[in-house]
Amino acid sequence: MNSLIETQPYVAVNPCRLCAPLGACLAFKGFERAMSVIHGSQGCATYIRRYAISHFREPIDIASSSFDEQAAVFGGEKNLRKALETMVRQYQPLLIGVVTNCLSETIGDDVPLLISSFKNIEGMPPLALASAPSYKGGWEDGYFEAVVGAFRAVADKEPGKSTEERTAFLPPLMSPADLRELKRIGDLMGISPLIAPDISDALDGGAWEQYHRLPPGGTPMADLRAIGGVKSVIDIGAGSGISRAGDFLKIKFGRKVHKIGLPLGITATDILLEKFTEISGVKPPETLLSERSRLIDAYFDGHKYAAGKRAVIVGEKNLCGALILWCREIGITPVLVASTGGSGKLTDLYEDAASNAGQDTMEVLQNADFDTITTAAQKGSIDLCFGSGKAQGMARELDIPLVRIGFPIHDRFGGSRLLTAGYRGTMELFDRVVNALIEKKQTKIPGGYSYL
Ligand code: SF4
Repeated sequence: MNSLIETQPYVAVNPCRLCAPLGACLAFKGFERAMSVIHGSQGCATYIRRYAISHFREPIDIASSSFDEQAAVFGGEKNLRKALETMVRQYQPLLIGVVTNCLSETIGDDVPLLISSFKNIEGMPPLALASAPSYKGGWEDGYFEAVVGAFRAVADKEPGKSTEERTAFLPPLMSPADLRELKRIGDLMGISPLIAPDISDALDGGAWEQYHRLPPGGTPMADLRAIGGVKSVIDIGAGSGISRAGDFLKIKFGRKVHKIGLPLGITATDILLEKFTEISGVKPPETLLSERSRLIDAYFDGHKYAAGKRAVIVGEKNLCGALILWCREIGITPVLVASTGGSGKLTDLYEDAASNAGQDTMEVLQNADFDTITTAAQKGSIDLCFGSGKAQGMARELDIPLVRIGFPIHDRFGGSRLLTAGYRGTMELFDRVVNALIEKKQTKIPGGYSYL
């Protein structure tokens, strides 16, 4: 039996594609023995589990307060209490993220008040709130909301000395492979990184000899409690201007915060290493310099394939910002960028990025569905697309290769192991871009393969 699910050749609009609670639940997976409960309709929790598992291929338990008709009209206090009691009894989590969804937000349930009244229930761990109505933002917004919620719920006012020599990395949703790469680079640069949240083990673990109700991994609770005492903070999510996690640590604990975009490309990775040197005083070691040098060599070798190509970029704000700059680094012109968020600020942000990259014009679409993006792309003579697996229908319609990047990737295997961070990650991505362009050319050559 064919196990691949045949989808419509083209999915125009899926309103839950950007589900903010989905991002919040993924962020909570990055803290030790943390669990999420969706406060609202049960189907949302099922949808989110399925969506996340298809990408990460790891068990993901998400509870639900399972609104019925009564709760939808009169509020879900009783349901949430029951859900929390069940979670404590069956899982003994160290942190519970209460994630409001479209329904509970629409009826106006006073969840902060409910949470404060549940704190005294016996055995209840800290409760973190992530307010995540999807009509106000996409999954990236929900992710950052959850990170701040976890900090607010757990970080102590007096964090003590256990983290004072460490640097906190606050990443957006990066692949487990990228997080491991960040740790490796941090270690090489004399930084002892405290990554929060850290999904690298919880969402890309090994085979278990015995069953765990909650997977091992995540930012240890002791570190999260003491995060306010770190030496400095690198807020990687700040590239898009939507991460508030660094601001929280700055305002509440007076930490020094370095705001950077995703370390994708030579320029962006150089910036990361400069920050590391500023913090630790350690210069990049030979290992990293060789990786940088090999990447430059790869750029030379692949230049004839990539240079002059025109791309459409579809994705979350952070990723789009990083890809705009990187495309120009390798000679590709991003002519159309479609991202989440309807504030209008993205246009300014991306136009800044485009002009920094030496480009005059670039169309920016916000909150657009794939139908709109495809129509805009058809005018632009595009050679390739960067996007999640959800862009495959669009790429097929445009007859261009899709370089899969970001989240979610449901139509290929190994999404959690895609490496794009640092010099090594950039090299892997560059190889994929060049090979996608070569493959496209190859299909047009009668007789198949030739020297290209
Ligand atoms: S929370 Fe909202 S966006 Fe997410 S699955 Fe439910 S209805 Fe859809």
